[in-house]
Amino acid sequence: MQGLMMDAPLLISSLAEHAAKNHGDREIMSITVDNPQHRYTFKDCFSRVKQLANALDKMGLEHGDRIATMAWNDYRHLECYYGISGAGYICHTINPRLFPEQLIFIINHAEDRWILTDVMFVPLLEAIADKIVGVEGFIVMTDEAHMPETALKNVLCYETLIAKEASDYDWPELDERSASALCYTSGTTGDPKGVLYDHRSTILHAYASVVPDALNMSSQDCVLPVVPLFHVNSWGTPYSAVMVGAKIVYPGPKMGDGETLCDLMNAEEVTLALGVPTVWLALLQYTEKAGKRLESLQRTVIGGAAVTRSMIKEFRDKHDVEVRQGWGMTEMSPLGTCNSIKAGLESLSDDERLDLATKAGRGLFGVQMRIVDDDGNKLPWDGEAYGALQVRGPWVCSDYFKLEGSAGAHTDDGWFDTGDVATIDAEGYMAITDRTKDVIKSGGEWISSIELENVAMDHPAVAEAAVIGLAHPKWTERPLLVVVKAEGQDVGKEEMLAWYQGKVATWCVPNDVVYVDELPHTATGKVKKIELRRQFADYQFPN
Ligand code: ADP
Repeated sequence: MQGLMMDAPLLISSLAEHAAKNHGDREIMSITVDNPQHRYTFKDCFSRVKQLANALDKMGLEHGDRIATMAWNDYRHLECYYGISGAGYICHTINPRLFPEQLIFIINHAEDRWILTDVMFVPLLEAIADKIVGVEGFIVMTDEAHMPETALKNVLCYETLIAKEASDYDWPELDERSASALCYTSGTTGDPKGVLYDHRSTILHAYASVVPDALNMSSQDCVLPVVPLFHVNSWGTPYSAVMVGAKIVYPGPKMGDGETLCDLMNAEEVTLALGVPTVWLALLQYTEKAGKRLESLQRTVIGGAAVTRSMIKEFRDKHDVEVRQGWGMTEMSPLGTCNSIKAGLESLSDDERLDLATKAGRGLFGVQMRIVDDDGNKLPWDGEAYGALQVRGPWVCSDYFKLEGSAGAHTDDGWFDTGDVATIDAEGYMAITDRTKDVIKSGGEWISSIELENVAMDHPAVAEAAVIGLAHPKWTERPLLVVVKAEGQDVGKEEMLAWYQGKVATWCVPNDVVYVDELPHTATGKVKKIELRRQFADYQFPN
């Protein structure tokens, strides 16, 4: 027997309607290139979103066409999220930090018809314009006064374009499974691959992410997403914050600047901030140096890479801020796990809580996880066994855009292979030990590069560390620690290796340490291990 509930589609436009009606006077504050303090309300936002949707409908586009954005986190970019997807087009957020060849590849692969761009990315687009000939035109996200001189063809001014339009709009009744947004993976291995989100997956992901044990986001919050809107939909915050009616603060082009972030948080009374570890490192270094405190911040969600114990401790002890580690991927919208304390674990000591917080966290309802060995056998959740981490759920990709299964990322029984190696403990806390391709195979054993990196980064003289496995005549591979020293600090080889005593098994301690000025990073700020292995290809371990 079927239930008797309405079949109402889960659509991104319904979030816009809900927010405008129920949280209309909530504020969105942005730093933009043309205004250091732009403020308006949800009501203003969604009225402009409708103007944008009206404008797009007049451009001869078809539902499902891709319209790209190349922009920082600010209110206009948020308007694109709703105007483009809500009207039935696909919002393709482009990471402007990608190399020109990658930009050309993804714009052509996505078959973007128009690109909405910040003023500062116009030169980047000019440089590749003759290689992206399918793009019909560009909309520069500013007003007439700030329009740049440009060699690009068919260029419109965002403010002029939407000013002509009405602020009422009938949202199309789309199928909830129609595609809404497109985001390419950073392409550390081969060409970038497109992940195609739909309205349903987006709404379900937003519901799951706001719950108390995940982001714990409510209308009481003021949210600062430091994770870019071009990076996995800023971890879904454009949808989750709008769903609950949280105030939103956008740092525009000032994302990596510790001083701006600290001052913005304190002035706007930010309660929840989200970002990758490198950003928080910059923030913590700044607060330490300037003798400032994060006054209002209650929680920070950190993910995208492993979070060190020392970072969690510093947030807790110096700023009274709870760090919630999250794990996810572009392919997972992105949230898979979030680390919060589970009932029954409240009596853990401060130290034990810190240890627990270094894990990636527990699976959100909606994401099933399993770890398997090389033969595909399921491994126990005992916190010891490690294997390939596989997931499935309604906001996990079932394929990549236009690849028709050729990426080989899914198992025969329909799970997505994350490419991560993990343990899961009896309480359900998952911990990433490595990317599959970064695992160090020493003798018959696997050594976790992430564990070794975390220990190194907890040393006060270490700014950043990476561990790679390099060929060894006896052990097949052994770990090499590559360190960037913190400004004005020093630590010698012996001291560095001695730091590992008692913290990891003796046979896991790196064989050697090399000091460098900087590590190679991907466009999303992760250490590029492939490049590092290339740099150290001729390296020989000391006897
Ligand atoms: P994002 O960086 O937004 O999480 P990507 O798709 O670029 O998305 O990268 C996903 C990969 O980042 C994961 O497969 C994993 O290797 C790594 N990652 C994400 N979160 C964590 C975490 N908490 N700890 C360790 N690695 C992580």
